Amino acid sequence: MKFGTKALHAGIEPDQTTGAIMTPIYQTSTYVQENPGVHKGYEYARTQNPTRDVLEKNLAALENARFGRCFASGMSATETVIKMLNPGDEVVSTEDLYGGSYRLFTQVDMRDVSNVASVISDKTKLIWVETPTNPMLSIVDISSVAEIGRKYGAKVAVDNTFSSPYLQNPLDQGADIVMHSVTKYIAGHSDVIMGFLATNDQELDDQFGFIQNASGAIPGPQDCFLALRGIKTLHVRMERHCENGEQIAHYLKNHHKILRVYWPGFEDHPNHEIAKKQMRAFGGMISFVQNEDTLEKAEKTLSSFKLFSLAESLGGVESLAGHPAGMTHASIPKEKRIAGGLTDSLIRLSVGIEDIADLIADLEQAIG
Ligand code: PLP
Repeated sequence: MKFGTKALHAGIEPDQTTGAIMTPIYQTSTYVQENPGVHKGYEYARTQNPTRDVLEKNLAALENARFGRCFASGMSATETVIKMLNPGDEVVSTEDLYGGSYRLFTQVDMRDVSNVASVISDKTKLIWVETPTNPMLSIVDISSVAEIGRKYGAKVAVDNTFSSPYLQNPLDQGADIVMHSVTKYIAGHSDVIMGFLATNDQELDDQFGFIQNASGAIPGPQDCFLALRGIKTLHVRMERHCENGEQIAHYLKNHHKILRVYWPGFEDHPNHEIAKKQMRAFGGMISFVQNEDTLEKAEKTLSSFKLFSLAESLGGVESLAGHPAGMTHASIPKEKRIAGGLTDSLIRLSVGIEDIADLIADLEQAIG
């Protein structure tokens, strides 16, 4: 099946008892057993829930993965991968990445993959990649990092949140684990917090399942239903996010009051060729800096938006504008932040699926 068909049908069957076409919300904490241990495959809802099962199968199919597990948030999915490590094990991760993940790892600049080989040691058990990165839209070559991981016996995990499975499938590029903040493009309507891990490795999936059950950071059935509902339009939404994103990226690049625009679809983006190789299109996340390169100007622009909402998060149908230095990435030490280009004046856009003319009109009046 092609992506759009899988989004609607993979792992999804009409309800066996009623024929309901929509997956029911099994809002239950436990399941009645005939005799101790004699049951229909469900014992307790931390361990198994039919609504969650369907979502896990559906999402695994979208990532071309054999196995998938959902978690209460993107961070609890990330935490599950970290829980597999032992004291003394080392993790190498992308230098420029989501602020919440930054708090968990030390980092190296992976835009040049040779930097990964230069810091790896026999203690390195995990390489954590984010691509495109949040918020600098840097691109890391997944297949080259996967090769280094294989050579040194380290697992390679890719945070695929910015691309969604529609734009990029890291397991196909040789990664061992793919992680998502389902909160973003996958659920897509700014109404759910959820995380996801997929792998083709049975042993890894067994460990994820053990931690999912033992730690209990699971999503509730109502949230699983909302994510399943969101996924039915993932491919259609992503097409519009990408179309609008491309137009806004070029509009900003040609604007006389804009100094720099970060978007992997530009031919002069440093890793554009790698983006072309591993992504189907370039997405709707864009960061930019104005000629008046100050915090005050950024704040003025952000408070002038009428259609873009000033908010954390991304990937929903509505357009958002954010200030990474003061919001999502405030936990990164200032010198580190600025050295990586994440200045106080940087604005990040999550371009939604509204009419492009209205979005550009809003940018025009807000940039002033
Ligand atoms: N990874 C990326 C790239 C993110 O943008 C975020 C959240 O902003 C996360 C992980 C964390 O996900 P969650 O907020 O669902 O815990």
